[in-house]
Parts: sequence; structure tokens; C-alpha cells
Amino acid sequence: MLALPDNGVRVGLHHYVDFPRLDAPQREWLMALEGSRAADSAPYSFLAHRLRTAGLIAEDDSTVSGPVSARVNAPRSVRAALESALRASGIRAGEDIAAFEPVDVEVLVSFGSPSLTAIDVLARDQPHLLVVTDDAGVSVGPFIRPGTTPCSTCLGLHAADGDAAWPYIAIQCDGRRARVDPHLVPEAAALIARAVRAGTAGHDPGVWRLAPDALTHHGTPHRHPECHCGSVLGDDLEDCEAVGFEFGGADSVDLGELAKGAGTVPGNLSHR
Ligand SMILES: [Zn+2]
Repeated sequence: MLALPDNGVRVGLHHYVDFPRLDAPQREWLMALEGSRAADSAPYSFLAHRLRTAGLIAEDDSTVSGPVSARVNAPRSVRAALESALRASGIRAGEDIAAFEPVDVEVLVSFGSPSLTAIDVLARDQPHLLVVTDDAGVSVGPFIRPGTTPCSTCLGLHAADGDAAWPYIAIQCDGRRARVDPHLVPEAAALIARAVRAGTAGHDPGVWRLAPDALTHHGTPHRHPECHCGSVLGDDLEDCEAVGFEFGGADSVDLGELAKGAGTVPGNLSHR
């Protein structure tokens, strides 16, 4: 909120709306919105309407709820640092969240390929963010909304298309501990916070690839034609399990095919 010389108010800086020649109560009402995206529009609906049209306050005040909540699934050493950074950016995480409390997003941190937990999380219709660490850096994203976006199985199938050995590599990665270069943790945490906020607001944050000497952004891969996630609603547990395992068939015990079905992703998304 910035004062204009004619007793008006400018709302916003990069994208702004000017309200010239206001009376004192109007000016006071606008100034009180500083730092807020929600407004009780009752007294000045015409001002609120302009702000809403410009995207400067929430579309519907009734939809404004508490802070976004995220549960971080990661080894303890990585988890504590990430949760602390998430809390610092206004996201509820860590000790604020009770053990079985529903959250807006599960952050699944794994090594080399997406956590196999993503299959269960998808089946629960739970939005989740994939974070994959490897020997060269961290990939943050994609943000997965079950039934809407491509899933971790899509990523695994894409990866196997490009690397015949990938399923064998990926299943070996699953048993390994995710670790992040301590120097990269603050930046990784910031990217996770950004992706959590974007994803829970309905936007596609894509995939950020963070390495010691570079930060690159990539689009979210397309849904794989062999994956059925687009036709499956996440709350149908049986169907979702079928998505996870139909490629290998549990009876065949084909390690590679099982890994393909279980949802894997190349360690270095920046090459895709
Ligand atoms: Zn899929």
C-alpha cells in the first residue's frame, strides 16, 4: 500500500492498481490490507471488486484458510533442516503436525528415484511433491495431484523408455538413504517451499534441478501413454495398486518390470 499525492492509494508495486482521491475511511480500509490477501469487503465492495479483478486479493474470502501444511518424509538429518525452512516460509511442517493429521501435501524425499511410498500416497488421493536426491544434486518436483497430473509411475515409464537398464538401477536406489549436500539444503528447502505453495494453489511448479554450480527449471513430464493414472481416481485403492504393479505382474517377480511399474525417475531430470 503506497500513498499517492492526491490522497489516493496505490496497491501493489510490480503489478498495481491506483485508487485516486479517496476519503479518509476508504484510505484507512485499504491501508489495513497491507500484507494480506483477504479482505472483509462488506464496507467497500467496489474497492474490493477492483482488487479481486486485479488478482490482488483472494477471489472468495470464504476460501481463505489457514497456512498450507506439509509432511516431510525423509531421513531425520535432512528432514529437520527442510521442516525448519518450510516453517520459516510460513508452511506448517514438522512438530506442528500430529502423526496422523491430514496435510495438504506430502513431501517425499528419496535417493535416485521417487520413493515407492508415492504409490500408496497416490492411492490415498493425497497430493505429493517428489524430491529426488542423487550424487550430483537435488531434483524438486513434479507436484502430483492424483487423477489430474502425471504420477511417479509415468516418470518411471518415461525413464525406462530412454534407458533400458533404468528399472534395474531404480530399484537398487530405493533401498538407499537420501542425502543432500549440506551446502544445498537451504536452496533445496526454498525450492520445496515454493513448489508446495504453487502446487497447493493449483499451479504446476515443474521440476527444479539444483546442483552446486547450477539451478535449472524444467517442465513437468507428460503423462505416459502406458500409465493409467489419468483414468483412475486416487480414492480407488484397488485400481491404484493395479497401476503400480500391472506392468510386471506380481507373479512374474521380474525385478526390472516391477521397478517400472512402481514409479521411478532418472536421477538427473535436467537431461530430459
Ligand atoms: Zn501415471
